[in-house]
This record gives sequence, C-alpha cells and structure tokens, in this order.
Amino acid sequence: VKFIVDSLDPAMELGVDTAPLKSLQEDQLLFVFPSAQGTWTQQERKRSYKMFKRGTFKDATAAGPLGSVRGRTGSIQMEMEQASVQRHGFNEALSETISLHRRPPEARHPECFGEKYSEILPSASVVICFHEEPWSTLMRTVHSVLDTSPRQYLQEVLLVDDLSQNRHLKARLGSYVSGLDGVRLIHSTRRLGVGGCRTMAAAKAKGQVLVFMDSHCECHEGWLEPLLERVSQDRSRVVSPVMDVIDWKTFQYNATQWPVRGVFDWRLDFYWELNPPLQEIPPEEAVLPLQSPALGGGVLAIDRNFFQSVGAYDPGMLLWGAEQIELSIRVWSCGGSMEVVPCSRVAHLSRHHLPYIFPDQEMLRRNKIRVADIWMDAYKKIYYRRDTLAHLIKQVCGPEERLRLKRSLGCRNFHWFLSTVYPQLYVPQDKLALSGEVRHTHICHVCFSLCSSTLLCFCYSCTMWALATVQTTPGRNNSRGPLSGQLVHQQSQMCVEAVQQAGLLQSKTGEVHKPTAGGLYLKPCTRHPRQQWHFEQLVAPKGN
Ligand code: UDP
Ligand code: MN
Repeated sequence: VKFIVDSLDPAMELGVDTAPLKSLQEDQLLFVFPSAQGTWTQQERKRSYKMFKRGTFKDATAAGPLGSVRGRTGSIQMEMEQASVQRHGFNEALSETISLHRRPPEARHPECFGEKYSEILPSASVVICFHEEPWSTLMRTVHSVLDTSPRQYLQEVLLVDDLSQNRHLKARLGSYVSGLDGVRLIHSTRRLGVGGCRTMAAAKAKGQVLVFMDSHCECHEGWLEPLLERVSQDRSRVVSPVMDVIDWKTFQYNATQWPVRGVFDWRLDFYWELNPPLQEIPPEEAVLPLQSPALGGGVLAIDRNFFQSVGAYDPGMLLWGAEQIELSIRVWSCGGSMEVVPCSRVAHLSRHHLPYIFPDQEMLRRNKIRVADIWMDAYKKIYYRRDTLAHLIKQVCGPEERLRLKRSLGCRNFHWFLSTVYPQLYVPQDKLALSGEVRHTHICHVCFSLCSSTLLCFCYSCTMWALATVQTTPGRNNSRGPLSGQLVHQQSQMCVEAVQQAGLLQSKTGEVHKPTAGGLYLKPCTRHPRQQWHFEQLVAPKGN
C-alpha cells in the first residue's frame, strides 16, 4: 500500500495503525493525516486518521475551490491542496512550495519613496500570537519581519503559541527559532484567544511600541518606519498599515487600493472600506495617513504604555471575534485616535473559512453583545434589532469592571463617537411601530416577544416556536395588520392564527378530519377571533 502522509504530522510518528488500509487498492488511498488535533491516547491513535480516497475529491473539486483535476500527478497535488484548504482554511499545500523569503511586489505610491523619517524612532516588539498556524505561513511571517525591519528599531519578534497541539509548533519550532537572532518563543499554558494572548505578550514585551501581527502576514519593504514615526509623534495614536490581501487559494498577492479605512456596521462586523465617502483626497496627499473609525487586527501598532493605560484587550471577551471593534471604540472614546498609514503595507492571508473548532458556538455573538452593552449606550438597541437572537444569550462575564474602567478613564459616549469619529455611519431611525406585550384575545397561554420592528419571536407554552417576519406597519386603509388585530406574514400575506388544542373536528356531513395540534399557524386572513391579537401599545407611524 502506498500512501502519502501529511508532511508535518507523519502518521508513523503518531503511531497510526495502518493495518485496515492494506485492503485498499494502491491508488484508492491518497494520503492520511490525523483527523483531529489534540493529545492522543494510545487507543485514539489507532482510529484517528482520515482517509482521502480519489472519489472524495473529484466530487468536491467539481464544485470546489481548486478547479478541475488535471493529470495523475497534478491530481494528487490538487487533492492535497484541497485537503489542506479543508483543514486550514487556505491552500497550505501550495504555501509549502513557496519561499519563506518571498517579497510582495512593490505597491507603494511613488510619493512614499520621498518620505523622510526621524533617525530616532521608538523600538518595536512585533508580537505574533498563533493557534495551530501551519509551519510555512508562520515562518514566512517571521522571516518577512526579520528581512524587512531595520535592526535598530526591531527590539524583538515575540512568538506566542496560544496552546496549539500541532507538533511542529513545539520542539521543532523551538529549535528553529533558537537559531534566529531577536526572536523569542513563549508557549501559553492556557488557551487565551486573540486578545488574551496579545495582552499576555504585551506584559512580556520590551519594545516601546507593540506591533501586533497575525501569524500569516508578509511585510513590504519599509513597512515599519512609517508606523513608528506616527506613534512616536503622538503616543495615543494607534496605526495600521494598508492591509494587502494574499489569496487563500493561489497565494497571489493583491494590492489594496488607497484610500482605505476600517469601519464596522450595525451588526458589529468589521470591514475595510475602499474609497471611503469622504471629501476627495488630492493626489499630493497620497502619502498622508487617514483617520479611521476602526482598525483590523491583522497588523496594529500601539504605544506599549498607552496600550496598558487604555485597558489592553478586554479580558471578558472570548477567544475570537469583535476584539478589534472593541479596541477601536475604546481607543477613540478614551482619548486616543486611529489611522491607516499609506506608505506602510503588509499583506494578510485571506481565508476560505475559519479553521478553528470553538467550544462555544455563540462566542462571536457573545463578544458583540459585550461590545454593545459596554460601549454603545442606548445605540446598542440598533445592534440588538439587527441580531434578534442576541436577546436570548446570556453573558459569561459581567461588564461591571469594564464599565468602571470606562468611567475612570473619562471615556466619551457612543453618541460622541458617532458624531465625531464616524459620522458616515447611518443611524437608522427604525422606530417600533408596536411595543409591549402581545396577547391573543382569546387564548392566553400563547406569548410573543417583539424583537424588532419587523421580527417577532413566537413562543408557545414557553418554548420558542417559530420566527416570522410580520407586517407591523398598518396598511393605508387599515384593513389589515395590527390595527385590525391581525398579524400578517409579509412573504405569504397570510395571517397568524392561534389554535387552542388538538381535537377531532367533525364536519356537518359527519366526516372526521385529522386532529389539529394546538399552536400558531399561518392561515388565509379572515375576521375570525383566532386571528385577533392585542398589542399593549400601538404606535402608528407618522403620516397615518
Ligand atoms: N489566534 C490565537 N488564538 C486563538 C485564535 C486565533 O492566537 O484562539 C491567532 C491566530 O493564529 C492569528 C490571530 O490570532 O494569528 C488572529 O486570528 P485570525 O487570523 O483567525 O483572525 P482573522 O484574521 O481571521 O480575523
Ligand atoms: Mn488573520
């Protein structure tokens, strides 16, 4: 039996029992690698490989991301690439074949080459936290920092292993790094998550400026000096390079168009906004930094003392998600500022999907709720209306401590943030047409809660029953909708009907119909009392 094993975790080393594989045809089996990450007991090792047979990938390839299967050797490579995408969220197999020292093509504006920076700049600790990062992308990040940063400004590269299980990130990485000048490796004994890991590293960093960097980046020549220059001029200024994009499939480099700034929407999703709707930027200002309502987490430079005084990363946020939004609102509200520096560029690897298996499905949502509850004051309602499930989620950790920090730092409110920092964010005036308790006029044990102006959460006998979009704005003639006591489902134009209980219905002709279970139904609208609902408060929209 011939098989190819994943080069970084050889099946042999893991003690995989290959006996059952012997029954396979030679070209049936392509390669084997551990199906899960973690510490393995002897028992688990025996059954812990995943087999990738030819057919598996042919099908996946047809609709999948890597194109069609070529020749026999090509197809093996293709299948390995496909498997690595599944495992890591990007084409790690291809990355393995690319130099650890490659340089992205020049993308800076010609004006940047005329820029002069101070001779004396603060020293930088480049902090790279990682969790299960493949060898090639991690080491390409480290080498690109070492290859492009002037030694006099680079205090150290701090590599922090956030409790990875992968073997290559342990002894092999340790011995590799010991041969690199200025690189320190720390293994965390607890899973800290993105923010927690960075906060931990910050306490150990020696440089005056912290440069947080994702573990899959490639720096351009001259990326560091413009960032340090801006931070040294104002220690409460937090800066980011222009983030270029490495394609997850082809590993090709794509330059990001200037101007660009970081923003977020009412769902608290972060994105880079190309061509921000600002006044036109004249060409001679192509080298001027642009203030940014938020910055992504990919690469971020911040003065170490300012980072500590503004409250580091929020320790109440869970492993991953929205920490860049939390930091952005906090920096701005509590006396700092943020900007993107056009003459500094770093490329960040995009991903096909997130590769992590998180213990908590609601982690990202919990983090967003925390941001809303602590930082958005009354505006948090707008977030809650956009994520109706947020109402149902309990926080793991109370916001009291961060609210105290907010008070003690004298941070401004979210209204100030919106009007001063991010006036372009449209504040929706989604006034509720209806509010308060909703009761059925005849059946009392049906309850509703109104999640937003267009969404109703139905619960029936205290269990969540369904979600439906209802028309809460009465029609012009009020013939339908809540003013008439009806709840109309927008898509179907049917009415919500409450049926009290199961029972055999006998028609006039004596025919017995199937019993109907009690509950809520969508039925053609009638004037029947089963479709009559009573709202505690009814606010008719203006103009009606
Ligand atoms: N990371 C970490 N611990 C975690 C999750 C992520 O240290 O629990 C690292 C990850 O390896 C990366 C950085 O934090 O270097 C940011 O995470 P990721 O790249 O997944 O975020 P994205 O760029 O997708 O927003
Ligand atoms: Mn990343």
